Amino acid sequence: MKKLIALAVTAAVAGGAFAQAFPSKPITIVVPFAAGGPTDTVARQLAEAMRKPLGDATIVVENAAGAGGTIGATKVARAAPDGHTLLVWHIGMAATAGLYRKLQYKPLEDFEYLGMINDVPMTLLGSPKLPANTYRDFENYIRANGGKLNLAHAGLGSASHLCGLMWQSAVKLDKSMTTIAYRGTAPAMNDLIGGQVDVMCDQTTNTTSQIEAGRVKAFAVTTAKRLDDHKLLKDYPSLQEMGLKNFNLTIWHGLYAPKGTPPEVTKKINDALQVALKDPEFIKKQSALGAVVVRDNRVTPAGHKAFVADQITKLKTVIDAAGQYAD
Ligand code: ASP
Repeated sequence: MKKLIALAVTAAVAGGAFAQAFPSKPITIVVPFAAGGPTDTVARQLAEAMRKPLGDATIVVENAAGAGGTIGATKVARAAPDGHTLLVWHIGMAATAGLYRKLQYKPLEDFEYLGMINDVPMTLLGSPKLPANTYRDFENYIRANGGKLNLAHAGLGSASHLCGLMWQSAVKLDKSMTTIAYRGTAPAMNDLIGGQVDVMCDQTTNTTSQIEAGRVKAFAVTTAKRLDDHKLLKDYPSLQEMGLKNFNLTIWHGLYAPKGTPPEVTKKINDALQVALKDPEFIKKQSALGAVVVRDNRVTPAGHKAFVADQITKLKTVIDAAGQYAD
């Protein structure tokens, strides 16, 4: 009995000492998409902003792409729960719960929810080779040629896939476009610019500079209203404005750790996240890309989890209505 108590005391002390030591080695943020894309951009900017509040920690971003983000998420769900492996993921955390009937992890049970990062609009884009220049012309062109055109996305369950699905179902195309899956929208964007694919919907964190440089054609934003505060994106109509009633899609990103990460450690990470979300440099960089840094109670672990749980329910309705699944 004595021995047992002694063991318990040692374990408790070790737990406390461990938390104090955190981080004791480089922290890896897993991004479940290719490097250079929108999720990657959010993760890298966040890593920079969280480095100092975590005591000048080394934070590396690792791209573990594939299967709409679920490969990277599985990797983090199975990683050692010590705070040194984290996940930055977007709305896919909720969408894949409806799209994949067999996931390798349980979204609400296998992660510690650390807090939301931002909300990001999407833009509906076409290759520079498309003849249309306005949303109206674009919609008419797709109606007439949909069956011959390709829609790029970042895998089943990705934001770009979800957006493409929702848009095609909202405009009630007779013939849907052929979808082409990439490991992220960074490589998909290269093919859109080159005209190998025709259409893509993607976060503004990846599209703003390409639109500004005239490398792709932008037709609309997916938020309920147009983005009046953004110097470039304010010129594009919202899909609601163009007659797609109730169309409203905003992509959010959150930060996660494997289930079982000690509370002292998750608190340190959430504290650092809160500092990062108030960092003027981070806010400025995000807002230049059309993203809005979260300020409401979704920055708390409980608020974050409640929001994702609600999104899982809402997105499942959308996915079930479209009747398309990933497996
Ligand atoms: N924007 C992508 C998506 O459609 C993912 C990425 O490459 O970050 O989900």
